[in-house]
Amino acid sequence: MYSGLVTLSCALLFASEALASCAHGTSLHKRAEGGTVEVKNFGYVGVTGPLNWVALDAGANILCATGSRQSPIDMVEGQFTLVPASGLGIQIPDFAEGAEFENLGTNVEVIAQGGSMTVNNVAFNLQQFHFHLPSEHLDAGVSHAMEMHMVWESEAGQIAVVGVYIDVEGAEAGAAPAEGAAPAEGTPAANASAEAAPAARRRSARFAPRDEVVPLKKTTAPIAKRAATTLLETIFASVDAIAQPGTATKTQPLAMSELVDILNAGDLQNYSGSLTTPPCSEGVTWFVSTQKLQISAANFGRARDVIGFNSRFPQNQLGQPNILALSSAMLATPQIQAAALSQRLGLSH
Ligand SMILES: [Zn+2]
Repeated sequence: MYSGLVTLSCALLFASEALASCAHGTSLHKRAEGGTVEVKNFGYVGVTGPLNWVALDAGANILCATGSRQSPIDMVEGQFTLVPASGLGIQIPDFAEGAEFENLGTNVEVIAQGGSMTVNNVAFNLQQFHFHLPSEHLDAGVSHAMEMHMVWESEAGQIAVVGVYIDVEGAEAGAAPAEGAAPAEGTPAANASAEAAPAARRRSARFAPRDEVVPLKKTTAPIAKRAATTLLETIFASVDAIAQPGTATKTQPLAMSELVDILNAGDLQNYSGSLTTPPCSEGVTWFVSTQKLQISAANFGRARDVIGFNSRFPQNQLGQPNILALSSAMLATPQIQAAALSQRLGLSH
């Protein structure tokens, strides 16, 4: 099923090697030789941003504006199949000597080779992982502080990405409120904070008229505040060293077993989508984890200061027309043309 898509993806990727980022370090987009760190020429704001990626290289990036299975998406029911993470047999060795950590201009990336997993009897090898701020996928309408993308490649060049949301420590849904800030027991706020309510349910409670507040099930079991993930703390402790695009450093030793254990305790939301960076090639196998990682507030600040903003906007539902194609078609309609003309002539308010 993927062979046709992958062939197309490869052709597109070879045509625009300088632009690819989510596939960086794979055979489709080889890492720069000689220890130099390649800096990307696409961006996230203005004319180099995701609304205009197609204009940077129309031939290569056409799917960014026309593809109908584009990532990221809002992860709502019907968009994915849930699979147990333990079924993929994910194995990632610890990096006892640390790992190379690079600033690619649009992203910071850890070169992490040696991991393996199996998808439908096809072996995939981990190549790198990188970070988006804020999260690119939405967790049933909710944006998280960051999202980690672990990029895997099969022998035949298929790409799979495992996405993991990252919350700032203490801010995750269901975390106990700060000492002294606890709302009175039995109030909707107390109930909401005491339960990791589904996002849609929390929103419906928040926006419902006062007398129609949806009662939330009360639980007496306190939700334990989850500690910052050691892997992230170790990685971002050295992000200041790569504040400048094109620079690289070596992390302290990375214990990957912690991450594998966290992933294996949950499920993966699986769908076929695209790279979230130019050339937006489709046929990418996505696995978004139901497990979340935590980062300390201090290290989130460090990450934010270096990464800035690098999140593509949520795309249309899978199989639906690309939002940019829809939008440009709308701009060409007589009604919009007439409105634009009257605006130019000063006839409208
Ligand atoms: Zn990514």
